[in-house]
Amino acid sequence: MNTLIQENYPDVKIKSVKSILLSRLHDTDKAWGTHVIRAVKADVYMVVVETDQGQIGYGEVCSYGGPPIIKSWIDWFSRIMVGRSLSEAWRVARPRGVNWAHDGAVAGLDCAFWDILGQITGKTVAVLLGADPKVTEVDAYASGGVNYDWSINPDQLIDEVVGYKNLGYTTSKIRMGTQWAFDGVTPERFIKHMKKLRDAVGPDFRLAVDGNARLSLEEALKVAKGLNDLGFIWFEDAIVITNIDGFKELQKVAPDLTISGGEVMQSLDQYRPYFEQGALQMLHPDAGWMGITEMKAVMEMAATYGISCDPHGWHNGAMAIMHAHIMAGAPLYGQVEVNFAQGPLRDAILADGLPTAKGKLAVPQVPGFGIKLADNLEEKYPYLDFNYHAEIMHPIAEVKPAARNWM
Ligand SMILES: [Mg+2]
Repeated sequence: MNTLIQENYPDVKIKSVKSILLSRLHDTDKAWGTHVIRAVKADVYMVVVETDQGQIGYGEVCSYGGPPIIKSWIDWFSRIMVGRSLSEAWRVARPRGVNWAHDGAVAGLDCAFWDILGQITGKTVAVLLGADPKVTEVDAYASGGVNYDWSINPDQLIDEVVGYKNLGYTTSKIRMGTQWAFDGVTPERFIKHMKKLRDAVGPDFRLAVDGNARLSLEEALKVAKGLNDLGFIWFEDAIVITNIDGFKELQKVAPDLTISGGEVMQSLDQYRPYFEQGALQMLHPDAGWMGITEMKAVMEMAATYGISCDPHGWHNGAMAIMHAHIMAGAPLYGQVEVNFAQGPLRDAILADGLPTAKGKLAVPQVPGFGIKLADNLEEKYPYLDFNYHAEIMHPIAEVKPAARNWM
């Protein structure tokens, strides 16, 4: 793609590279929490790249690298990139898979460059990535299930997922509730609760569980077997990502359940052992964490192994739109994750809100991504400089540190 720009658009130069950092405190009764974490705010990190010919490209960053640290990388890249051609700037932005802040910054830049390329060529990013121009929407799933507390009201989960079904979504992904050790929850009790969920939504509703790498292999094998028997579609990050043999064991006990994972990886080389050893049957790369260029490489390599990708997207509306373009042009079918725990900021950053309804997400039919930000965002949602979550301590349960694998 760099060659395309160099040959045809050699004069497009980077005029500015900026960041928009936003936060919104969660309403106390709607703050999400799972395992041992309680989110206290929602963050937005947008990279904004302007060219000397008037294009403005956006990239929403997965902010887990820490917004102030990501910004330090963006400011550094800005000093290098401003005044250079788009192709020169693009060449230096590659994820390394070792530093979330650096890779998040690079991802935001790469996405913004694709947005600009779309505007220069008059094509949607989806079409640039190989989508049929007639595709105007992709399948989306409701991602949530991060509000139930085993000691208070576990049935909140049931009501929540029935709510997604009533909104017209056909797939929902949930998590495993507060730390099991707080309440003596076992795989057997969890599966009993999943049976209740299955009965509430009916046999045809597509359900998935994200384990957030919380389980031991012994626990995960029991849960995988139970989910398999209840007709769940996929089981994501059941165990720590390094346990490649463990993922293969999960596949054996749950032949009809897709064993997935890999959201924490940011570069193609990190996925290689999982391809070669057949450890994961579906991957969750995130364009806001690795960029579109790298994600495209991951998806194409995955497709040669028959492995599909459903993007990880636990942030805001701009990220969901980026993923809609990517999935429209993806080599294999996948659904876009739409975050239902982020609160109003998810839609409020977009002038027209997030175009999702009834299990679909629109692919805006304008050159680039078609992301239009709302006005005065920084005045309305000034960035709050502290971590987005707190860890819940418990006086009696012995709690292991939270896995760094969200969400
Ligand atoms: Mg996940």
